Amino acid sequence: MAEPAADVERMEFQLALRRRGISDQAVLRAMDEVPREHFVAADYVEAAYADQALPIACGQTISQPYVVAYMTEQLEVRPQHRVLEIGTGSGYQAAVLSRIAREVVSIERYRTLADAARDRLKTLGYANVTVVSGDGFAGAPDSAPFDRIMVTAAAEQVPDALVAQLAAGGKMILPLGPRKGPQYIVKLTKKPNGELLQEELIAVRFVPLLPGQAREL
Ligand code: SAH
Repeated sequence: MAEPAADVERMEFQLALRRRGISDQAVLRAMDEVPREHFVAADYVEAAYADQALPIACGQTISQPYVVAYMTEQLEVRPQHRVLEIGTGSGYQAAVLSRIAREVVSIERYRTLADAARDRLKTLGYANVTVVSGDGFAGAPDSAPFDRIMVTAAAEQVPDALVAQLAAGGKMILPLGPRKGPQYIVKLTKKPNGELLQEELIAVRFVPLLPGQAREL
């Protein structure tokens, strides 16, 4: 096991998030509790607490801490919520969500990443996260509806199956936009009558949400 990050480094990490406008105490606490150094590739442990995205296996990335905190804050996750995440990657975002929500289901299209994230989350004791190897475009119909849905790869359009699996009154957050063009974090709210409200938030850069389960491992 790696040594826990030095206190100074963690304090600076919290300060940087606050300086950038993260103010929800539950989110700040979750960001403090999850040891990011266990989720990055061994070669990048030194940079674990820097505010940048880092490469992980299968050509994917672990998102930048600010974006993780921002999306979590904007999703307005509460302790009673069941959350669906699309794009497990390293499992870091799922771990952060699991510190606030009752339950997290996370789907990843690369079996290698899903297996590694499942092991990592189990070892670290995140017992309320279920990692599924599958296609996020299909969501998890057997576990639906979800109070909150977070997609952590950029889609060109909002996937219909995910909207269908969102509870009435639920919220979904996702990066939306073309692979090479401008992408924005979009927040959707499903009103009790089923109507969808859509808000455009900050500009971002995410890896693409790709159709189907990865054929390579
Ligand atoms: N949330 C991750 C970062 C994910 S990067 C973390 O905290 O580390 C985006 C991830 O979405 C990648 O691992 C990619 O393989 C996955 N992905 C892309 N399209 C997908 C799909 N259709 N279904 C499930 N996962 C998908």
